[in-house]
Amino acid sequence: MEPLSYDIIIIGGGAAGFFTAINAAEMAPEARICILERGKELLTKVRISGGGRCNVTHAEFLPKELTRNYPRGEKELRGPFHSFMTGDTIEWFEKRGVPLKIEEDGRMFPESNSSETIIDLFLEESKRLNIEVLTKRAVQGLKQKDGRWEVTTLQENFTAEKVLVATGSNPKMWEMLKDLGHTVVPGVPSLFTFKITDARIKDLPGVATDAVVRVKREKLETSGPLLITHWGMSGPAILKLSAWGARELSDRKNFEIEVNWLPEFSPEEISEELQRLKKENAKQHPQNYAQFGLPKRLWQSLVNASGIGAEVRWADLNKQQLEELTNQLGCGTFQVHGKSTFKEEFVTAGGVELKEVNFKTFESKVCKNLFLAGEVLNIDAITGGFNFQNAWTGGFLAAKAMTTDSVA
Ligand SMILES: Cc1cc2nc3c(=O)[nH]c(=O)nc-3n(C[C@H](O)[C@H](O)[C@H](O)COP(=O)(O)OP(=O)(O)OC[C@H]3O[C@@H](n4cnc5c(N)ncnc54)[C@H](O)[C@@H]3O)c2cc1C
Repeated sequence: MEPLSYDIIIIGGGAAGFFTAINAAEMAPEARICILERGKELLTKVRISGGGRCNVTHAEFLPKELTRNYPRGEKELRGPFHSFMTGDTIEWFEKRGVPLKIEEDGRMFPESNSSETIIDLFLEESKRLNIEVLTKRAVQGLKQKDGRWEVTTLQENFTAEKVLVATGSNPKMWEMLKDLGHTVVPGVPSLFTFKITDARIKDLPGVATDAVVRVKREKLETSGPLLITHWGMSGPAILKLSAWGARELSDRKNFEIEVNWLPEFSPEEISEELQRLKKENAKQHPQNYAQFGLPKRLWQSLVNASGIGAEVRWADLNKQQLEELTNQLGCGTFQVHGKSTFKEEFVTAGGVELKEVNFKTFESKVCKNLFLAGEVLNIDAITGGFNFQNAWTGGFLAAKAMTTDSVA
């Protein structure tokens, strides 16, 4: 059977694949474009993203600041963000009738609060622009012959002048890219929460406060809101740590972290403040009133852990108890004994080596007319809408490059 011929074939019907296809079709209306999707369903990750609400992007409008959210890809994305940024994303969706709203922490969602709005938009746009979308087409082979790409699936064979690989963290596609000469950094999970069994936090699920968290014996430290959960710790401070430490922590189930519950105070300041409280509140019981603005139950738990019972008064505190409380507040050690996936969002760190990609066009430096966007690259971000922004930016620039010269 003759192979089906297209100008552009996009492998992968996810966020990066659709965004590229739609932009390419708008930039070159005559180009014949086809999306090949392995699964029965399209855009499955978009559907479940952001707890079903799809955290499309983040309200951070300076390219350099934005790149700071990418443990892998920070340097490489700086240029691309100067061409297509969060502001462009907002405008792109708004222009197509999908306004986004900003939440207090900067995350941006469709006003509808539903990821279906994004999916509907992508599917309608693909139809309007005559993009062929074929599901149940797992690409099995990819090779270049006489200047054209040959793409093989179990059902049909295809040819195209240009191919975009947007298959996310799919290991089989990484193998195919290796066969084409690419280097692939092995995938490991990023964005996970910590399992901790510890009397100090056992009865405090739901308590949240700002903290600095450090992995002991590693140069890994982050700050931000920390949420105590039924199984341990989560919240931005922990998720950031898991993203920045994805590789270091990948083969470690057990490790120790140090939590500073009072990021605004140095150990000396904590100690001085405790001395002042001892003097001024001599007759009161430390357990009764939370200090330093800490949530009361957390304060009580840390006081308890310092060997200071409910009956003890400030005046009774001895040197050792004060020292222990200073430590508990400023550098409490917790044993992590496992990781849990973060239900709202999880990503894989790893993918095509970034040195092998031209970040002006997202074209492979190894194979001409092969483009790569989204999670297939060794780029990933902390939680907050940054992973999709990588898919939108890469997709847009790849679309531009694929339609600039020879196609249509
Ligand atoms: C639960 C969850 C929630 C998330 N929430 C958010 C969020 O709110 N905000 C955010 O920024 N990020 C979020 N992320 C991360 C985000 O979903 C990904 O970074 C993003 O989807 C990557 O897009 P992609 O197009 O590169 O890959 P994907 O979305 O994974 O798409 C790849 C597609 O390629 C297909 N494919 C794979 N191999 C083949 C093949 N051989 N042939 C044909 N097709 C193939 C796959 O079936 C898939 O449809 C979330 C992730 C998860 C798991």
